[in-house]
Amino acid sequence: MKQFLIGTVSALLAIGAQARLNVVATTPDLASIAKEIGGDRIELTTMARPTEDPHFVDPKPSFIVKLNRADVLIHGGAELEAGWLSKLVEQARNARIVSAAKGEVRCCEGVKLLEVPEKLDRSAGDIHASGNPHYLVDPENAKIVAHHIADSFARLDAANAAVFHANRDKFVTVLDAKITEWQAKLAPFKGRQIVAYHNSWLYFATRFGLKIELFLEPKPGIPPSPAHLAAVVARMKEMNARVVIVDPYLNRRTAETVARGTGATVVDVAQFPGGIKGTEDGYIALMDYLVNSLAKALAASAL
Ligand SMILES: [Zn+2]
Repeated sequence: MKQFLIGTVSALLAIGAQARLNVVATTPDLASIAKEIGGDRIELTTMARPTEDPHFVDPKPSFIVKLNRADVLIHGGAELEAGWLSKLVEQARNARIVSAAKGEVRCCEGVKLLEVPEKLDRSAGDIHASGNPHYLVDPENAKIVAHHIADSFARLDAANAAVFHANRDKFVTVLDAKITEWQAKLAPFKGRQIVAYHNSWLYFATRFGLKIELFLEPKPGIPPSPAHLAAVVARMKEMNARVVIVDPYLNRRTAETVARGTGATVVDVAQFPGGIKGTEDGYIALMDYLVNSLAKALAASAL
């Protein structure tokens, strides 16, 4: 009897463990979409902190353990995590999540990447060598990512496939309504210039008709030099750019200096839910914040 009970309990535990997919996401935006789709049917770990630079994430040894047990690895691809992820995956020795394995979700598949150079050139230290990898701040791309994640979960946990697909459809429906709302809020500012620290806002700008083409970094990943900043200030005056945006892991003081020199306003932005206070709820809360804070800053600095 005792043997039978132990056998039954361990069988139940095995089923229980199987029922929840072990999911690791590289960044909090991807994790937020995974949570929308997986709900309480997945066990979710996020590697990058919301205030961390996705290009330079601290590769903690605990990540190797998580990756070793993962059924699914969700990553942005397009070289976003090129500096830190592949070594961790290699050390994790988990065939389920290696490149092209069933559990690998490379979210940039099917996304129209922008700024893809004709020739790969990393010589100047450019960390966007194969195109701009910050595509998820365009909510249309969030829909593509939601499809990838739902398909992957459904493939690996067929018993819950209908739930994953229903959650995806719900997320996409909410997002569609929100996109209309966000378009309307930013419509009055079409063509307005915004200066960014790092070139991570191209997809947002393209979606909403803004221009974010001038950067405090001379090249992605290269710190600003005084000469470059002087040139930026001069250009800002010419273009009448009155808003500077800065991510939490970049040097806000540099942004403030540039803003002071041009009468512009600094607006704190983040690519990840939780990177700015009040956006912890997830991707949609973050986009709400971005649209509202930029609309407010642009309205206050009317031309
Ligand atoms: Zn970047």
